Amino acid sequence: MTESEEAAVAVGAVRHEWCPHCLKNTLQAATISAATSQAVHVIGGYAVCEECGWSPYAEQSTAPSR
Ligand SMILES: [Zn+2]
Repeated sequence: MTESEEAAVAVGAVRHEWCPHCLKNTLQAATISAATSQAVHVIGGYAVCEECGWSPYAEQSTAPSR
């Protein structure tokens, strides 16, 4: 690997998805991608409910703080 170019990280359009806690479409979700001159890679995403703050990503990797 001799390249040193920087990847441009972009957050995709926010979608509204179903929140199982609020029982309505208040979960804001988006895809995070990194674009180089070679390709565009999806590197992650986020989703958090605008009503209750619940996130499906938080449940996967982090322990409850209380
Ligand atoms: Zn919610």
